[in-house]
Amino acid sequence: MKRRDFLTTTALGASAVAFSACHRAEETNKVGSVNVNKAKKVTLKLATSWPAHFPIMGTGVDAFAKRCFELSGGSLEIKVFPKNILVPALQVFDATSAAQIDAFHSGVYYWKGKNPAFSIFGGMPLGLTSEEMITWLKFGGGYELWREMYGKFNLYPLVGGTTGPQMGGWFKKEINALADLKGLKMRIPGLGGEVMKKLGVNPVLLPAGEIYTALERGTIDATEWVGPALDSMMGFAKAAPYYYTGWHEPGSILEITFNKARWEKLSDEHRAIITAASEEMTGNMLQEFRYKNAKALQALPKNVQIKTFPKEMMDAAKVALNEVLEEESKKSADFKKALKSYQGFVKLNKPWDDISTKNFLEIRG
Ligand code: CA
Repeated sequence: MKRRDFLTTTALGASAVAFSACHRAEETNKVGSVNVNKAKKVTLKLATSWPAHFPIMGTGVDAFAKRCFELSGGSLEIKVFPKNILVPALQVFDATSAAQIDAFHSGVYYWKGKNPAFSIFGGMPLGLTSEEMITWLKFGGGYELWREMYGKFNLYPLVGGTTGPQMGGWFKKEINALADLKGLKMRIPGLGGEVMKKLGVNPVLLPAGEIYTALERGTIDATEWVGPALDSMMGFAKAAPYYYTGWHEPGSILEITFNKARWEKLSDEHRAIITAASEEMTGNMLQEFRYKNAKALQALPKNVQIKTFPKEMMDAAKVALNEVLEEESKKSADFKKALKSYQGFVKLNKPWDDISTKNFLEIRG
């Protein structure tokens, strides 16, 4: 068949299908499971944990909302509210759960206090990379568990971006041995903080706006944040010039999470559009992080020294992580269940990764 013939036939075929679909829709309103009627206009309120248009994360959710509007022909409007406009940054989970707002965009590891298992869906120290995390969620059973556990809070989660590998943080003094960590105060959240605690660090939680001052005044000795692109905006280099490579957040997952009852009331069309737009957002964010981190690394101030933590410390971190995972599993059945699924994927993934990506990166050098 010539290309032109193919196009004509396909176009005719498509309109024939569309025609008969419309015809059937008059009777049933449904073709397969998709509602073919034009969706009614819906407006949703989505709150974030970031300042307005915050680079990469905030602009990512702005683009997601725009995309939902475009793909729905204007019938789905998602209004994005930056942190503290409708609800404080770290109350978006509760506000969505209670249906005060329809959805939120945030980081999964913030909700560890709600259920320890949630930290696993947000990413694991020394664990899966962003691409591997998303593979586990989509194909390895992670999403089913995440949705089951969020369901208890009347929430329905979708991956809403991911950071790629994060850096290990900014230190005022060099870390040459495990003993150098003793008594250090470091801003580091999540499971990474729990591991650091076992290595002698005093982990502290500080909101973004207070980190630089605390570092400059010596209230804290070190801080992690994200990677060169976002870290360089914070000015950490002036107060803590030793910039360590990462281990504790190899692939942190961000989320677009909906009130579950609200999600279930949306049309099939709108749910499909949101799902597609969230996938697009996730890919775009990972690529944007990679590109902007690469560029920002070149532009770091001259006094910055890139360092890697001593092997002794990373060996101790692996032992400490296993202790943390065992302790959490004893305390929480959900944590144990999510960890079992996660570790099942790690075991499946490793032999293939060893002879594919890992092997190739070594060869490429
Ligand atoms: Ca971080």
